[in-house]
Amino acid sequence: MADLIARVTSTGPHAPLAGLVTSSLGLDVWEIGSEYVVLQAGEAQTERLEAMGYDVEQLQLTEAYLSDFATDEAVSGYHTAAGLEADLRQLAEDHPELAELHRIGSSVQGRPIWALRLGERRPDARKVAFLGCHHAREWISVEVPYLLAADLLANSSTDPVQRWLSAHEIWVAPMVNPDGHEFTRTDARLWRKNRRRNANGSIGVDPNRNYGYMWGTLNIDTSSHVPSDETYVGPRAFSEPEVRAVRNLVAAQLFAGVLTYHSYSQLILYPWGYTGDPIADPADRAELSGLGADMQQLIKGVHGRTYTAQKASALYPTAGDTVDWVYGEYGVPAFTVELRPATAMDGGFILPASQITPAFEENRPAAHAFIQHVLDRPPLP
Ligand SMILES: [Zn+2]
Repeated sequence: MADLIARVTSTGPHAPLAGLVTSSLGLDVWEIGSEYVVLQAGEAQTERLEAMGYDVEQLQLTEAYLSDFATDEAVSGYHTAAGLEADLRQLAEDHPELAELHRIGSSVQGRPIWALRLGERRPDARKVAFLGCHHAREWISVEVPYLLAADLLANSSTDPVQRWLSAHEIWVAPMVNPDGHEFTRTDARLWRKNRRRNANGSIGVDPNRNYGYMWGTLNIDTSSHVPSDETYVGPRAFSEPEVRAVRNLVAAQLFAGVLTYHSYSQLILYPWGYTGDPIADPADRAELSGLGADMQQLIKGVHGRTYTAQKASALYPTAGDTVDWVYGEYGVPAFTVELRPATAMDGGFILPASQITPAFEENRPAAHAFIQHVLDRPPLP
């Protein structure tokens, strides 16, 4: 059981920070700065890091962090899996001509995974998708796409939303990992993975390492082949029903762009994650970095928050994530947006409920820009 949240720094070239993330210590990496890494670790791991030459500063015991941040206020205002289903159903009932609820699959424990389809049905519609909550503890990543859907419907009789929904489709799946999310409400607030029972008896596969593009090509702390690790990639690509649900939806709808919400760190990430190499195609590279920069600007314009746009691998290398797969397999724009807050000591994965609305407000114009960009994009050859 990991028991403290620590800020780890290098004490010299013999202990490089990059080496920390690419090691295989089973660390739960939370946050990466240019000169530090924040992680959750147990005593044995902490001692090991110190022996390797890192400086480990305790920010807070996990227990104290939870009692500071995981308050009743921080639970109220966030959806349960059942509450989300009820609210999505309500949106569909209130807008029968525009919204339709689809069960896109089932979790390991049999919970439904839902996507709301928005838009009139047109045979030549372009389609955009927003996803949330691959990682159980990232509660704000449910609320932002949910509020995006509700807001689009509330504004469906004015442009540009009216124009979008009369010709095109926007799909929103706010909770890809309902089992994990439920477990964070009932048992362990900081649970990350799904609830698969692995062959060795440990629990959970990281759904955002289980996609089938360059799957399993890394074996490090941020993409691990050790089943008990927080970033366990699973026994094979698409082994997890939650990930197959997304795969099947994308394969059926052939989205022209996909944006997936996570938290935290305030980042806008684009491919690649599996390699430090940039996207090879110069036009695609310019398109994704340009759109990322535009979204950064739009987010900052709302409440002044900086969400840094960068290549995913610049944060840390990951293989088998959603955006690598979407871009690698379909060649369309794909982004991960890491939402509020910026740091662990601002709450990390536990964002006060009072920040749900501002988090949505600042992301709305960037999401709209993504939609507009994808709808305007010339079709693939
Ligand atoms: Zn995440």
